[in-house]
Parts: sequence; structure tokens; C-alpha cells
Amino acid sequence: MATISPVSDRPHKAAKRYIYAWGGGTAEGDATMRDLLGGKGAGLAEMTNAGLPVPPGFTITTEACNDYFASGEQLPDGLWDDVLTAVKEVEQLTGKGFGDAANPLLVSVRSGAKFSMPGMMDTVLNLGLNERTLQGLIALTGNERFGWDAYRRFIQMFGRIVMDVPGEQFDHALDAKKHARGAKQDTDLTADDLRALGDEFKAIVREATGRDFPADAYEQLDLAIKAVFRSWFGKRAMDYRNSQKIAHDLGTAVNVVTMVFGNMGDDSGTGVAFTRDPNTGENTLFGEYLTNAQGEDVVAGIRTAPKIAQMQTDMPEVYAEFQRIGQQLESHYRDVQDLEFTIERGKLYMLQTRSAKRTAAAAVRIAVDMVDEGLISKEEAIARIEPAHVDQLLRATFDPAALKGATKIVNGLNASPGAAVGRAVFDADTAVEWVDKGEKVILVRIETSPDDFHGMAVAQGIITARGGATSHAAVVARQIGKPCVAGSADLLVDYAGKQAHCNVTGTEFKEGDWVSLDGSAGALYLGQLPTVEARFEDQPELQKVLGWADGIRRMQVWTNADKPEEAAQARSYGAQGIGLCRTEHMFREGERLEIVRGAILVANEATRAKAKAAAGEQLSADEQDAITTFDVAMSKLEALQQGDFEGIFEAMDGLPVVVRLIDPPLHEFLPNLEEQLVKVTRAESAGGASEEDKVLLATIKSMHEQNPMLGLRGCRLGLMIPDFVKVQTRAILNAQIAVVKAGGNPIAKIMIPLVGHVNELARTRELLEAEAKAVREAAGGVEVDYKFGTMIEVPRGALTADEIAKEASFFSFGTNDLTQMTFGFSRDDAEGGFLLKYVEDKILPVNPFQTLDDAIADLMRIAVEKGRGARPDLEVGICGEHGGDPESIAKCERIGLDYVSCSPFRVPVARLAAAQATLAARASLAERDK
Ligand code: ADP
Ligand code: MG
Ligand code: MG
Repeated sequence: MATISPVSDRPHKAAKRYIYAWGGGTAEGDATMRDLLGGKGAGLAEMTNAGLPVPPGFTITTEACNDYFASGEQLPDGLWDDVLTAVKEVEQLTGKGFGDAANPLLVSVRSGAKFSMPGMMDTVLNLGLNERTLQGLIALTGNERFGWDAYRRFIQMFGRIVMDVPGEQFDHALDAKKHARGAKQDTDLTADDLRALGDEFKAIVREATGRDFPADAYEQLDLAIKAVFRSWFGKRAMDYRNSQKIAHDLGTAVNVVTMVFGNMGDDSGTGVAFTRDPNTGENTLFGEYLTNAQGEDVVAGIRTAPKIAQMQTDMPEVYAEFQRIGQQLESHYRDVQDLEFTIERGKLYMLQTRSAKRTAAAAVRIAVDMVDEGLISKEEAIARIEPAHVDQLLRATFDPAALKGATKIVNGLNASPGAAVGRAVFDADTAVEWVDKGEKVILVRIETSPDDFHGMAVAQGIITARGGATSHAAVVARQIGKPCVAGSADLLVDYAGKQAHCNVTGTEFKEGDWVSLDGSAGALYLGQLPTVEARFEDQPELQKVLGWADGIRRMQVWTNADKPEEAAQARSYGAQGIGLCRTEHMFREGERLEIVRGAILVANEATRAKAKAAAGEQLSADEQDAITTFDVAMSKLEALQQGDFEGIFEAMDGLPVVVRLIDPPLHEFLPNLEEQLVKVTRAESAGGASEEDKVLLATIKSMHEQNPMLGLRGCRLGLMIPDFVKVQTRAILNAQIAVVKAGGNPIAKIMIPLVGHVNELARTRELLEAEAKAVREAAGGVEVDYKFGTMIEVPRGALTADEIAKEASFFSFGTNDLTQMTFGFSRDDAEGGFLLKYVEDKILPVNPFQTLDDAIADLMRIAVEKGRGARPDLEVGICGEHGGDPESIAKCERIGLDYVSCSPFRVPVARLAAAQATLAARASLAERDK
């Protein structure tokens, strides 16, 4: 038996070494060479090196593919000579001859890029067959039927894949033949039938291409290699790479592999198997196999394949060997493998190995098991689980049993995971109306826009006919944690008729019909399917993994929560503090809005009057009234807020709670200007509006701002109307006092929003400290403390962080505002409008409100450096929505933040992502030290 030249000195005629071969127990490549050999080639080499039975062959490198295109779709000079040499070696190893009529060598030609990729050229099997070599094959195997079957398969595959003959033409001919012979399955056709079919196939090729089917084995090989290369830039492959952000210059390798035959009788077969169940993660061989079949039969589902366990009965020895090999490969790669194999007359051959794709549940279970088995470290386990897996495990799902019998209406893009059930409605207003009546709804739209937000917010889930993964519906749904299916192109929505139907299945539904939406799989079903709630408490394996993550991560994970229930929820998910408690979020509930409105309407007047009184001036009765009205409303508010804070401090006992003082522009709490104007105008023309309504209108007008997001809000509000600061400070400290008295441990951090100049912060601080001092003095011996800090969300604030740090003991990056102010985008206008187009047209790589933009991250880094320069123990976190986004969390790690804060249901995801960020940072440090 011949041996293959060692790696270093394979002689080559081409300018570069383009070929790596394997066979006879050794390989020139190995698993580390995926860039050059592609995943498949590297796997075949590695399996050979591991002593596993792999039929001999060789890989033509990805570099050859790139050079093929560089030289205008020509094989690089000398490459063909090198291919011929490699074929010779395979001939020697197998003792067969390529194109040899007496003892023919047949090969498969398989594409294989670095990443397994749909859209690349399909594999051509049985290459090297022609009328002459076929006779040799028949003579050697003594099996005429097998020979003709192999031949007709080859013409069919080569014709379709390499010569671009429409595949249906072959399928029709095959079906017609089966029909004519009364054959149920392909295997029922006789040798004569198959021979006749081969002739028909050749005629089809001639008809479709105007040339004869190539008989010469070397010509077949040449055409097949070039077809693999060309498929790299095929439309499907390009689209896939674009969608997955895979570079277009990686190129594909070509693998030429000696054929082994699974279709040589009942002692032969072929199959696909996973070393563990990719759905559940269970540690048992999982897969399918077929006797007397070739590889593509299993994948294409030509016959229904039995479970791999059947092989244990059919061929116990081969099964045992396969099981052993599976285990060997799994421990070798230290990951679950997805395997392809063929059995030729009782002998097992391995044809592919790769890391298996898996569901979220399987990913977690496998990681935990492998750590327990000592196969991988906790760090590796953490690195392998995707943040999206954790997210999925916390969403409701449909009961799989119910799903089986359900009527599917349409498929779509799985834009936001989870299961939702509700009655179909076709516009946002109806959604709100129905929900107000106590109904659950699914919002069905052709596409959504910011005008639909109120409907999306109340719906159980959203489905759209148009738009992709970054469409408005998808982006918003992910943000608010609602299941969403986008881009269901086959769904024809009739707004006027309030109904919709699927173009393909014809299934229809109308307003009010129950539908079930699967955002994880991307499908809509008729009726109310039972869901299974995903309870964190019931997922010990997930908790175990996150516990490991906690042991690894450097940053803490806090949460954004405004209510005690949210805080408690987040704490059960593992939150280590509240990074953002938005006081004003409690202003809208129940009777509160009326109280708040009452205060706001007289706020300016009362504040002016108070200043006058403080300067010793006489007040008018009206002024006196304004003060009284204002103070009464504010003290009601204070009492309510104190109650809220007590609840939150109790829920977060012993953990830090960052309370942000009032932030939004006041008009958000007042009636809408246009509506009030219409009301007054109508009333006037109908005989006269009430005085109250007219005053209200005048006040709303006086408070109207052109750009409220850049107007009187944040710390500016507290400086103009100091009572807001005072009242909220009192509410916070008195809540602390009450909780301490009850034996609790409230840890308060008071945060001032929207600071751009240090003086804004210094003034606010004076105000706040004076008030705090008064409360403490009145506390009667109960000691409470708080930390004073600020949000960094105005670019000027970030750039002057050294000055600001002198007044603040902590920073929290409000990256929503920081992003909109640094880009100069209004988020509300941008996200619903041009921003989607920007992302689609690649003007921006991603939506910067979803993933922290690098320039914003840079601004944060500057602020951290300056801030810590002035105050080394400055505590720094992030409370913008980016705090729950894994990619952004990685950036926060690099900037050196102390914690990330995110919405409660993102906390588990953030725990994992923060650990992964720590691991990545460690790896890049190690890289630098090298
Ligand atoms: P894919 O990337 O689509 O999995 P493959 O190249 O792995 O494509 O091959 C498709 C099918 O053909 C698989 O079932 C594989 O096992 C089978 N196959 C590939 N090469 C050979 C070969 N030399 N002998 C027998 N079967 C083969
Ligand atoms: Mg394969
Ligand atoms: Mg803000």
C-alpha cells in the first residue's frame, strides 16, 4: 500500500500547494485547518488521523477557489496536474483505476466551506461512471441491478447539479417508469428498468443542454470541481452569507472522496446520526438510517428512514463499532458530533463529522452533562451556550403534542421567540379596545409602524406579512418581549374585510377568531393551542449553568424595575440590585395621574410665588391659592411615592436600589394639546367652553415645547421646580426610615438624570442635601444613608466626566439618550422611520438603539477614564436598554463597567453574556501577552 507524502513536501506543479490528501491511515491536513480545507475536509483529515475508517480522497483548498475567481474563472496553472497526481495516489491506495473499465474507481465531489452553508453545490456521487466503467462495476460486484442504479443516479445528479438540467425532468421520468412498472419504491425497479431509465436520462441531458452527457471520467471531474467553485458565488450562497455576516472571500474547498456503496444489498446502508439527542440533549445515539440506500436517500426523505436503534438489530457489530466511533469523536472534539456514515457490505465508513446544531434545551443539558462527565470545563460550557438559548428557555412554548395535530395557517420569520394565543385583530385601535374589554389579542398586520405601537404593547403577539428580522414589528417586539412572526409572505391580509388567508394552504381566519402564534419557530396556527409556561424555578440545569456564569463574570447584573413585583421577579432571576427605578413610571397608575396633573398645572405659578415669598414680597390671594393647591397635590404624591419605595426597598432588601428622580417632560402627564384644542373649539361653537377647559388649554399651550426631548426635562425640571427634588428626596428617605424601623436594610442611591454641566448637578445636590438633612434630623435616631450620583447621557456630560465625578459617587450610562443625542437622532422618529432603511441599506451596520455603537462606547470609555481619574472609587454601570444586549454587554466589559442593568426578563441572559464577556476579555489578554 502506498503512503502519502508528508505535509511539508507534497510536490506541486501549481504556484501554491492546493491539495491535501488522506488515506491509508494518515492525512496531510487536520482539524485546525478549517480555513484552508473547509469544515468537511478538515473533519475527514482529522478522522483519518484518529485511525477511523474514512475512504481515501483529497481536498482542493479554499485558496484554490479564490484563485480560480482571481484568474477569471480558470483553474490556476498547474492545479489540474496536481489533481491528476492526487487521483493517482487514490488509485494506488484503493487498487482501482479512475476511468478503468475493469476495476473502476468512483468518487464523490463535495463542496465544503469553513462554515456549513446552505446554498453551496450539492454533492455529486458515483463520479467516474460511464457505459464502460459500469460494466466493470457490475462484473466486480456481480450485481447488475446495483450497477444500473448507480449509473442512473449519477446521470441524474450530475445533470442537475453540474449541468443545470432542471431536476424535475429526471423525477418525472423516474415516476413514469415506476408507474409503468407498478413499482411503489425505487427499489422495486429491475436492472432492465434502470438501464432504460439511464438512457432516458441521457436523452434529457442532451435535450436540455445540447450536448452529450460527458463520458470521460476526467472531464466529469474537471466540470464538477469548477461547478463547486462557481457555487460559492451562487445567489443562494451569497444571500446566506449576507444574512449570517459571513465574509465572501473565504471560498469553498472541494473534497474528492472514494465512493463507498450503501446500496449493495441488505448488508449495506447509510445514515446520519448525532452522538446525543439534539432536541433534548439526552446522552444517547440519535439518528436515522436506511439499508440498501445511498446517502442522499436519507436526507431527501425518499423513503421513511427507521431510527438508528434499528441498526442494532440489523447489524449489531457495525452498530457497536459506530457507537464506539461516535464516542471517540465526541471526546476527541469535546462536543456533540453530527455524523454521516455508510456501510458497504458490512464494513463501516465515516463520511463526515461536525459539531451538531442543537435546541436551547439541548444546549444547556449537554453543557451540564459534559461538565459532569469531566469532558469540558465550566468555562467552555459557558462559552458554548448562546444568549439566545437562555432567552428562549424563559419564554412560553406550545405543548408539542398539541402542535402535532394543529392546523398551521402560515409560516414566517421567527422574529421574537415565545408562544402567544389570542383573538385575531387587524388594527392597533381594535387591539386596545378588545384588551380593555378583557380579551387577549394577536395583532395581524401587513406591516407595522410607530402608529401601531399602542396595539403591539397590549397584544399577546404580533404577526406581519412583510418585513424581515429588522423590521419595525421585529425590533419593537423583541424590545418589549412579545412573540413575533414577521415576513409571512404567504399571508394575504384584507384590512377592509377584517380577515386574512394563506395563499398556499388557503386556511383563513377573520377578526375575533382564535389563533396561536409561535414566535420561536415562526408559525401561526388556528385555534387556542395549550402553552407550557417556562418557569425559571423548574429549570435546574439552566440555573446551574448561570451559577457557573456568576462565578466567572466580573461585572454584576442589576435590573431596571419600577415596581416591587418587577423587583422581586428580577431578584428571583438573579439580579444583584436595581440599576434604574424610574419614579415617574408610577405617576400614571390609578388616581395618581389626576394628582400629578393637579400639581403640574400650577407648578410654575406656585414655584414663582414661593420664590416671591422667600424674597419677602407680599403674595396675592391667587398666588397663595396656587401654592396651597400645589402643596396639597405634592404631599399626596409624596405619600404615594414613599409607599412605592418602601415596597421596592423591601423586595431588594440588602441590595442597592438606584432611584432616578423625575425625568420626562411634563407634558407627558397632561392631556394632549390638539385634543384639548379641539374640545374647547367645539364647545365654543356649541355655545361656550367651560372656564376649566379654557384654563387647561392655556396651561398646556404655555408648557408646549417644540422639541420636548431636548427641552425642560431631567435635572432641568428639578432646577426650575425644586419641589420635585424635595418631595422625591423626602419620599425616598422616609421610605428608608420606615423599612429600617421594620428591620430591613434599604440601600438607596439617588440618581440625577440628564446632566450636561457639572453646575446642574452641584445645584441639585445642594437642594437635595438640605432636604435630606431635614428628614434625617426629624428621623428620631433612625440612621439612613444614601449615595448621590448621576446619569451620563448627554455627550457634554460624558466629555466633562472628570468635573462631574467630583459631585457624583456613581455614574450610570443612560445609553438610550446618549445614543440619540450623540447621533442627533430622535429615537421615536428614527426607529419607526429611516433607521430601518439605514440598516437595510447598510448605511449603519446595526440599529444603534439595539446594539451599542462603537463611537458611543468610545464616549463611555472616555467618561469612565475621566471619572475614575477624578474619583478612583467611582462606581459605573449602564441602565440603557443596551444593558441586556449580549454584544453591548461585551463592550461594557471592555470599558470596565462595574455592572449592567437590564429589564427583569433579560437578567438571566445578561448573567451568561457577562460571563462570556469576561472569558473573551481574558482570552484577548492572554493573546496580547503572547
Ligand atoms: P452535505 O454537505 O449536504 O451533507 P455531503 O457531501 O456530506 O453533503 O454528502 C451528501 C450525502 O452523500 C451524504 O449522505 C454523504 O454521506 C454521502 N456521500 C458523500 N460522499 C460519499 C462517498 N464518497 N461515498 C458514499 N456516500 C457519500
Ligand atoms: Mg454531509
Ligand atoms: Mg434618559
